[in-house]
Amino acid sequence: MNVLVLNCGSSSLKFQLVDATTETRLARGVVERIGGQALCTYEPRHAPARKHAEPVRDHAGAIERVMRWLVGGGDGDAIGTGGDADGAGEGEGAAVIGSPGEVHAVGHRVVHGGESFRSHARIDAGVIRRIEDCIDLAPLHNPANLSGIRAARALLGEGVPMVAVFDTAFHSTMPETAYLYAIPYQLYRRHRIRRYGFHGTSHAYLVQRFAEFAGKPREAVDVITLHLGNGCSACAIRQGRSVATSMGFTPLEGLVMGTRCGDVDPSLVEHIALKEGMNLGEMGSLLNRQSGLFGVSGLTSDMRDLLDEEREHGDRRATLAIDLFVRRVRHYVGAYLAELGGAEAIVFSGGIGENSPEIRRRVCDGLGWLGIELDREKNAALPPGAEGEVGVDGARVRIAVIPTDEERMIARETAAVLDGDRGRG
Ligand code: ADP
Repeated sequence: MNVLVLNCGSSSLKFQLVDATTETRLARGVVERIGGQALCTYEPRHAPARKHAEPVRDHAGAIERVMRWLVGGGDGDAIGTGGDADGAGEGEGAAVIGSPGEVHAVGHRVVHGGESFRSHARIDAGVIRRIEDCIDLAPLHNPANLSGIRAARALLGEGVPMVAVFDTAFHSTMPETAYLYAIPYQLYRRHRIRRYGFHGTSHAYLVQRFAEFAGKPREAVDVITLHLGNGCSACAIRQGRSVATSMGFTPLEGLVMGTRCGDVDPSLVEHIALKEGMNLGEMGSLLNRQSGLFGVSGLTSDMRDLLDEEREHGDRRATLAIDLFVRRVRHYVGAYLAELGGAEAIVFSGGIGENSPEIRRRVCDGLGWLGIELDREKNAALPPGAEGEVGVDGARVRIAVIPTDEERMIARETAAVLDGDRGRG
């Protein structure tokens, strides 16, 4: 079954075509700057990647563009007439399927499922209404996801089943004590103010993959997963299910991230707003887009660049930003070990967790008394982006590095939802 995985942002569309039966990626790419002269990147499995610019007006235009790539058809194709492709190579070995009919299903990443969706769902009119109900919880993301859903439906027709895969669903197993804030309870009742957690597809993939590593069913593993990318979150997983996670009502809470502050004293919002004469919108932007690694270092939100600055120039604020980042990760590791009563493994992932032996070393440093012992040689020798274990053999807690693969997981979940439907039907 070929699943087209779509991840629609407000002005971008990331896609992958995955054969969900063999979990083989047939093609992937991204259309950026939708609404203007878009940058289109396409990487078919057996042909060189290609990149070009063309006007793409909206998500529907972007999906048309994607379909033309996948089937290698030019104008007049059943999928639509498309825009002004600049001869970017349709039909030159770039096609990965013979016709649009070979897209058997679409899996949409949807950021927020609120309390309405405890699992992923086959999309119908009722599901769309429930996703719309979650717009006030994710006012930037859910409308873009919905626009991708509508565009794909219009283009591919009712015959192609579509599934919504929610970032929040994996965390729906958190107990009340993990998801409630200690604020007046009626605010939870009235406005659904609670911790939801995000990156669920990634954490779910990581625990499943670790279970394969360990040769056990997913329900038999207790692990702490660390997704450390531009956005960062930690998750405590008991018997394969999320019981706590560091992101909260929004992705702002928890770890220090590229430009997000993570945990802060909420009183500072009022205080800074008064001192700096900022309104609430400006405060939101300060904490989401000007804080984190970027805010502390005053240089960049990019961990690799900060590590370079530290190594080459001994930049004090670069070191400070990295140390704050590492310290917060260690806080959550400690908290989640307490939560779980010990863990079988710590799993590093995301651009930083997968690629930076230095950050892994700093996170694990001095935690031998907890059974977390990094093997420095194995850690340094693991190639960037590779999967492997970097702990000392026989240590109480295993340390794994697993590159996350959210698209593969979305394809897998899409196939599982549709298989379940067929089973019931
Ligand atoms: P996103 O969350 O947007 O998907 P990624 O998971 O790709 O982002 O993570 C991006 C982060 O990973 C950036 O801070 C980048 O600097 C960092 N990163 C990538 N490679 C390395 C590396 N070799 N060493 C340290 N950090 C790295």
